[in-house]
Amino acid sequence: MYSGDIVSKRVLVTGGAGFLGSHLCERLVAAGNEVLCLDNYYTGRRSNVAHLLDHPNFELMRHDVTFPLYVEVDEIYNLACPASPIHYQRDPVQTTKTSVHGAINMLGLAKRTGARLLQASTSEVYGDPEIHPQTEGYWGNVNPIGPRSCYDEGKRCAETLCFDYRRQHGLPVKVIRIFNTYGPRMHPDDGRVVSNFICQALRGQPITIHGDGSQSRSFCYVDDLIEGMIRMMATPDDVTGPVNLGNPVEFTIAELAEKVIARIGKNARIEHLPPAEDDPRRRRPDITRAQELLDWTPTTALDDGLAQTIDYFAELLDTTSPAQ
Ligand code: NAD
Ligand code: UDP
Ligand code: UDP
Repeated sequence: MYSGDIVSKRVLVTGGAGFLGSHLCERLVAAGNEVLCLDNYYTGRRSNVAHLLDHPNFELMRHDVTFPLYVEVDEIYNLACPASPIHYQRDPVQTTKTSVHGAINMLGLAKRTGARLLQASTSEVYGDPEIHPQTEGYWGNVNPIGPRSCYDEGKRCAETLCFDYRRQHGLPVKVIRIFNTYGPRMHPDDGRVVSNFICQALRGQPITIHGDGSQSRSFCYVDDLIEGMIRMMATPDDVTGPVNLGNPVEFTIAELAEKVIARIGKNARIEHLPPAEDDPRRRRPDITRAQELLDWTPTTALDDGLAQTIDYFAELLDTTSPAQ
């Protein structure tokens, strides 16, 4: 399959039919790479990459990363894992298996092929953080036995595996810790706060705030995040991270609700639900390391990113659920 043409690399993207994966595949194909997009469609959708299916440099494969995979590649972006709390808590044992067995298989593949591997880790490795903003040197405050643990500990173990494969086998690994990222192609029903608030407002439903809404997050637009991922993969072999990637501008959840209501209105009203268990109170990335290593900083303000995301969901809901 590989033609050996000029700059083209053979790039494997696991979880490629998901929200972030589909944008990454698009960028990699546009840059002239041969992209193998792998997904078991647990939370991703073929429709996210439908526009790439006819491209000669794009290949889509149904596969579960918890099973071995034998292909020849130069780079691996390991994104396979449900990311929204309601999805990763639905089958928590499978979530841990996906993170841990998936990382072992992809690291084994990297070891055999000599490929570079970038692991999509998460701000959840910091748990409910005691330091603010979060730096990469902080070891985190994670409950090992709570409802979020399958995701948090699975991702922490995947990081451990990356660094052990590096120490033991000299693998060129790169770990990024992604902070809340949003944009077009999020799943409309995955319960993550940005997509949820927008879809609720568009459907004329109440905006559901867990607790009093004073908990905070820092929201990064997808295009900024993908740029950071690609820059990280391009760093020399001795740059391993972990590196925080996210937008350092912090908002409370109540402020986010106000912004969505201001844009969509539609008689929106707020409904307060009980606080979610183990919900981190505050989250904001310290991105000094990403700025220094990658010369990267997000450029999309929340208002601009929200406008693009609202346009996407307005069209999607209009075409997929006329009854809503
Ligand atoms: P997503 O749920 O849209 O994408 C995950 C993809 O992985 C889906 O396409 C899903 O079908 C696939 N998948 C799940 N289990 C699999 C398995 N066993 N084998 C093969 N494919 C499997 O979520 P996303 O937001 O695009 O997240 C992508 C990655 O980035 C995840 O690893 C997630 O943990 C990480 N991340 C995302 C965010 C964010 O804010 N979006 C924040 C931190 C980390
Ligand atoms: N593996 C894979 N593709 C490969 C090479 C390995 O999926 O091209 C899987 C394999 O199933 C193995 C895992 O990666 O279980 C870890 O591989 P490694 O070589 O580190 O360990 P070992 O094979 O010695 O258990
Ligand atoms: N949240 C909320 N209402 C919703 C969905 C989420 O108030 O309908 C809150 C949630 O309790 C958390 C924040 O928004 O404090 C971010 O939640 P999300 O699930 O998007 O991401 P994560 O908790 O993984 O950062």
